[in-house]
Amino acid sequence: MKKILLAGGAMLLFITTFAQVPLPPQVPIWDANKVELKLQKVAEDVYAILPTTAATETTQGIPQATTGGFIVGEKGVLLIEVMLTKRLYDQEIKLVRSITDKPILYAVNTSDHGDHCFSNYLLPAATIIIQNEFAKENLAKNYEIIKQFMITLFGKDRGIEQTVYRAADITIPKNNNLTIDMGKGKIVEFINTGTAQSPADLFIWLPAAKVFWAGNPFIAESPCIPWLFDGYFLEPAANLEKIYDFLPADATVIPGHGRITNKAGIKFTIDYVKALKKNVEEAVAKGLTLEQTVQSVKMDEFNKGYVLFNWLHFNFNIPNAYKDIKARKEK
Ligand SMILES: [Zn+2]
Repeated sequence: MKKILLAGGAMLLFITTFAQVPLPPQVPIWDANKVELKLQKVAEDVYAILPTTAATETTQGIPQATTGGFIVGEKGVLLIEVMLTKRLYDQEIKLVRSITDKPILYAVNTSDHGDHCFSNYLLPAATIIIQNEFAKENLAKNYEIIKQFMITLFGKDRGIEQTVYRAADITIPKNNNLTIDMGKGKIVEFINTGTAQSPADLFIWLPAAKVFWAGNPFIAESPCIPWLFDGYFLEPAANLEKIYDFLPADATVIPGHGRITNKAGIKFTIDYVKALKKNVEEAVAKGLTLEQTVQSVKMDEFNKGYVLFNWLHFNFNIPNAYKDIKARKEK
């Protein structure tokens, strides 16, 4: 298998340890020079922004670029995600401007991964940027390392090199929420429930319209499995279920990298994580090593054609589950 070397940092466990990282089966995972974004209205004054391929490719298991969206309020716009590069940011702003001329008052990033936040530097100076507290701390400390990581997965010469760090203005600590009233009954809730993929996660919930931006913790519906590659498993396992239980059955869910779905559409992620937890708990109870666990926990019933299944399941999801479950047992 092709391997790469990454320098130290705090974003990912394997980065912090100077470890070798197995590359995904394709680099870039998706190509920021080719992605085209489109608008999808989800409620009055509420829009999702999605790759044009999301509608057909999500269920084929083809990795999709970042989703986003915006809410038009009385005084201005709340933008959700700013995308990886200027090319995609420009498309996003053009889509906003096809609906409203109001200023972009707020922009929120649901993760510290570059595809959610790297174009913050292009926002108008007056725009207030909102992030999870850990996301800001990590970006402030490790921007260049995160940038190298994004280039490793999403390719050179995609415009990632040109991005520069811009600090968030408002941050939300773990186990805290923030509410913004956009006017006309549009209350937006920003939820930091702790690690659901990484410690930088932030969920966005619009209770009146029942619209939920799920970000990276729910990448997409089946056959997509979660990317638990930030070094955490047990906390995400608990938080994914907490968020799933919180959502009403008729919520509109905009996953981080897939077509718009509903609560039933993200259940595959919950089922996969539950099964992985059970299987790895059994392996640890039997005294299996990590290598033996990787050999035995194949979970073919969840391998339904997602291009990144093997890369994620065997290199990250099993090892992170094993690490957390073994550490808990030894406490
Ligand atoms: Zn993402």
